[in-house]
Amino acid sequence: MKINLNSIIIGAGPSGIGCMLALRRAGIDKVLLLEGNTVGSSFKRWPKQMRLITPSFYGNPFFCTDLNAISPNTSPADHSKKEHISGSEYADYLSAIVNHYNLNIRENEKALEITPNSTGFSVKTAKANYNATTLIWAGGEFLNPKLGNFDGNEFCTHSSEFNDWKDYKHDEAFIIGGYESGIDAAYNLINLNKKVTLLSSDQPWNSKSLDPSETLSPYTRERLLEIIESYPNRLSLIGNSRVVRIKKISSKYIIHTSSGKLFESDQKPISATGFHSALNPIKKLWEWNGSIPKFTNDDESTLYPGLYYSGPSLVHRGSKFCFIYKFRGRFGVIARSIAKRIDYPYNHKEIETHRGFLIDDLECCTKCDCAVESKDTKIVDSDDLDINPSTMN
Ligand SMILES: Cc1cc2nc3c(=O)[nH]c(=O)nc-3n(C[C@H](O)[C@H](O)[C@H](O)COP(=O)(O)OP(=O)(O)OC[C@H]3O[C@@H](n4cnc5c(N)ncnc54)[C@H](O)[C@@H]3O)c2cc1C
Repeated sequence: MKINLNSIIIGAGPSGIGCMLALRRAGIDKVLLLEGNTVGSSFKRWPKQMRLITPSFYGNPFFCTDLNAISPNTSPADHSKKEHISGSEYADYLSAIVNHYNLNIRENEKALEITPNSTGFSVKTAKANYNATTLIWAGGEFLNPKLGNFDGNEFCTHSSEFNDWKDYKHDEAFIIGGYESGIDAAYNLINLNKKVTLLSSDQPWNSKSLDPSETLSPYTRERLLEIIESYPNRLSLIGNSRVVRIKKISSKYIIHTSSGKLFESDQKPISATGFHSALNPIKKLWEWNGSIPKFTNDDESTLYPGLYYSGPSLVHRGSKFCFIYKFRGRFGVIARSIAKRIDYPYNHKEIETHRGFLIDDLECCTKCDCAVESKDTKIVDSDDLDINPSTMN
């Protein structure tokens, strides 16, 4: 059976569902979303203790749409009555939207093969074949963990493999990576009475960057300061120490760093080294600049017009759109582009723009002139304090 559609969307996370709603607002019909698992499944896999670092607040009627909302009329803060929402609460918010708007989503139906053809794209699943004029890939990054760019990375456990930090049974942990996931893991393990050594190639906790995609969020930095103050002997925070190799010698893991220091761990180190691009599973349909995918001004593949990407791996002018409030600004751009492709009028620019769902001024959102001098609250590394219990001679 072949089904013909205006658009097919792959992935029922915030980007896929958000795009589906933007298409609905634009009046575009015959849209289907395929989800290989269940709605919001990436969020359901988050460690139990993890929270969205971007705060939620219901400011929608004043055109300050909740930072984590995927449509102008909904708010995760309103839904969960919380500011920093857990993964399972965010998945509940997504499910509530799907039910409320009665969205055409097929769960447990994974896209196995995507093939461009003369009329658009065909998608093969284990249950059916679909044909659509346009396709939006919203497959997410969470299923593509990056173990770290060093020899012996196979000796690490990736941070995304933990569903609950209480499952970590050892008294000490080595964490590789000092950005959001690394500090989040350290915060939770330290609150569970563990001793943590955190190794980072730079010092994100003291970064002066204005872009939240390049520096620690205020929420995470605040929690880092909290554990440093409350438990000064539990955290060794070691910046400017890139891990270059891990060797396993009998039952020990020996961690070599760029600074020449060696660390010895009795357990597998935890690698909090991020994720590969969400476009990796459809790599061949995209043009790449090294590990960075190239996009048209409408977030399409430069190789296959009509094939769009929505989500955190979007990059324009060297800036990452890796937060919901960033990539949702492109839902309207994609909806407008699809409307044009199927010859449908699109008159929504003003409304969508005011609410943050159609940002097409890339000059504005990839450059910030609003720098004001920040208060200097430098976090001092453990090396500089001479607290470094885990080094080898
Ligand atoms: C640990 C972590 C913390 C984060 N915290 C924040 C935060 O606080 N605030 C923020 O704004 N952003 C945060 N992000 C960024 C985050 O990636 C995005 O906000 C969000 O998860 C991206 O949404 P998505 O819809 O692109 O991907 P996902 O939510 O991962 O959804 C992708 C969906 O696609 C499905 N899928 C994949 N392949 C197929 C296939 N072949 N066929 C069918 N379905 C498929 C998956 O099952 C999944 O359900 C965080 C990310 C991570 C990893």
